[in-house]
Amino acid sequence: MQILDGRKVASLILSELTNEVVLLNKKNVQPKLVIISVGENPASALYIRAKQHACKKIGILSDLLKFPENLTTEALISTIQSLNTDSSVHGIIVQLPLPKTISTPLVIRAILPKKDVDGFHAYNLGKMFLSTEFEDLAPSTPSGIVRLLEHYEITFEGKEVTVVGHSNIVGKPISVMLLNRNATVTICHIYTKDLAKHTRNAEILIVAVGKPGLITADMVRSGVIAVDVGINRLPDGSVCGDIDFLNVSKKATFITPVPGGVGPMTVACLLENVVKSAKRLNI
Ligand code: NAD
Repeated sequence: MQILDGRKVASLILSELTNEVVLLNKKNVQPKLVIISVGENPASALYIRAKQHACKKIGILSDLLKFPENLTTEALISTIQSLNTDSSVHGIIVQLPLPKTISTPLVIRAILPKKDVDGFHAYNLGKMFLSTEFEDLAPSTPSGIVRLLEHYEITFEGKEVTVVGHSNIVGKPISVMLLNRNATVTICHIYTKDLAKHTRNAEILIVAVGKPGLITADMVRSGVIAVDVGINRLPDGSVCGDIDFLNVSKKATFITPVPGGVGPMTVACLLENVVKSAKRLNI
């Protein structure tokens, strides 16, 4: 069994990005990401800190705009519109989840697609459906998964892949990206009748649910490549994924740890999108 070491691969990506930022700086371009956060959410605060820390490490400017819980959809959209036209800003992300009183689809739609470095705008998601060449500003968690597996020379063509979870930010886009790479993809979710039947069939199993211990060793085949996207905080403060790591790792050929697997790759791919956007907006 081999660990898919997200920290190691992410740091390789970040060091390449550092060089690209230096080149941009030489052209008087200072890549800048603006993170919008509404209300108080401890998990979001943690993710924002990780993103800002990584930005700082590689020379990307990051601004955090914090708003109170009672912000209106209109006020948020108006903030986004001014960032859209601000030429010093290359990437805009709205930290999700937003308070229930705010319309997330309307807010995401307000982001200029060229600055949508999270890749959640319908324009960027739609392009992804066409082929790998059109995966332009792709969502960073799915991109991170693909990049991590590619680093370990894992191929997708013809593979049986099961994705558990069908959210717009992980499950659906990773399924499309793997279809683009000619995998045979099965997508499971809360309404799937016999989850184990589908997980046992998987040569590559990707789990993005948010339920600790959901995938047990009897639910995977021997030799599985297991990718755990889940981030769950346990009452003792520790963090775990959705896969029973201890027992599934005994049957797996490759497995991602949590933490240290998909999480760091997500951050690295987000920053890659910021650099991509900064280059393009300054051609
Ligand atoms: P979500 O809540 O939007 O979606 C959860 C999905 O799981 C849904 O499709 C739902 O139908 C499915 N589901 C729920 N219970 C199930 C069950 N018993 N059996 C099968 N499917 C079930 O979540 P999300 O935003 O996609 O995030 C999923 C997990 O991944 C969370 O733990 C989140 O914190 C984590 N996450 C990690 C990263 C990262 O960088 N590592 C990035 C994004 C999300």
